[in-house]
Amino acid sequence: EKMGGEGGQEEKILVLVRLRPLSEKEVAVNEVADWECINDTTILYRNTLREGSTFPSAYTVDRVFRGDCPTKQVYEEGAKGIALSAVSGINSSIFAYGQTSSGKTYTMVGITEYAVADIFDYINKHEERAFLLKFSAIEIYNEIIRDLLSTENTPLRLRDDPERGPLVEKLTEETLRDRMHLKELLSFCEAQRQVGETYLNDKSSRSHQIIRLTIESSAREFMGKSNSTTLAASVNFVDLAGSERASQALSAGSRLKEGCHINKSLLTLGTVIRKLSKGRQGHINYRDSKLTRILQPFLGGNSRTAIICTLSPARSHVEQTRNTLLFACCAK
Ligand code: ADP
Ligand code: MG
Repeated sequence: EKMGGEGGQEEKILVLVRLRPLSEKEVAVNEVADWECINDTTILYRNTLREGSTFPSAYTVDRVFRGDCPTKQVYEEGAKGIALSAVSGINSSIFAYGQTSSGKTYTMVGITEYAVADIFDYINKHEERAFLLKFSAIEIYNEIIRDLLSTENTPLRLRDDPERGPLVEKLTEETLRDRMHLKELLSFCEAQRQVGETYLNDKSSRSHQIIRLTIESSAREFMGKSNSTTLAASVNFVDLAGSERASQALSAGSRLKEGCHINKSLLTLGTVIRKLSKGRQGHINYRDSKLTRILQPFLGGNSRTAIICTLSPARSHVEQTRNTLLFACCAK
């Protein structure tokens, strides 16, 4: 099967790793890059000072992308097939997981833009169907759900709809017109996400963001006959809170409420992903956090999932990088 391409029978979670380059700031303070992608699937820790130490130094996932690899290629080879499955009625999710400053937002914004461009291309090439593309955006901070398309700060409620499953009430949905419209909406959301940033230190690194595109389509009338098959599916682009929160909250016992809640969503996601990746039947604890409840209809079953684990190459970040890779290997 082609990576991120047409679906197989047994869908497993696609696990990708993206190494970012050292930033100019890091280079300026003589930071060293210790990680190297030795082939398309394996990343290696090479630190001559730590030669002979016992921790595993090679990690293998479905695909690794080197620091100089452009987002376009990450998208084409890792995410395109999964993002586009929504046009044919299959739900999907693409996650960015990693410590703060490892490149989650950088990666997700690019991927969302490429996906929308491809979806519009697809729509233009399929005139036999009428398409409707809807955009919504939520933030989960401290287990509170906010609408990123609204300037009101009111928390949104999550309700269980008997037919549609978990549903965020009163969530704004915008009909997406074109690629420019997407850029406008994304920068609006980014501004909303920063509300409260000044008094809640580092808020955006503690919050999860879900951008959802819902694609509905129905066959147009053909020679007086209307074919009533309607398809509807969503693709979720999930920019997770910094993964360092999970490890921090674990070690600190009763920390701030924020730490615990983010820990809860991130840790619950971890358990859910692990169970899904093992193809485990039986109970999956979706209901233990807001993030997993919201995403439940789009995970498991017939749906498709990719997790992009973003890494800093810096020697000073090695502990977090290793935590991220352990998560990546568990998800596989
Ligand atoms: P995060 O969302 O994980 O906190 P960001 O996406 O904000 O991290 O990235 C941190 C910084 O690194 C940003 O300035 C971003 O532009 C830069 N960056 C991240 N990934 C890459 C990459 N693959 N190539 C070049 N610059 C990157
Ligand atoms: Mg970010």
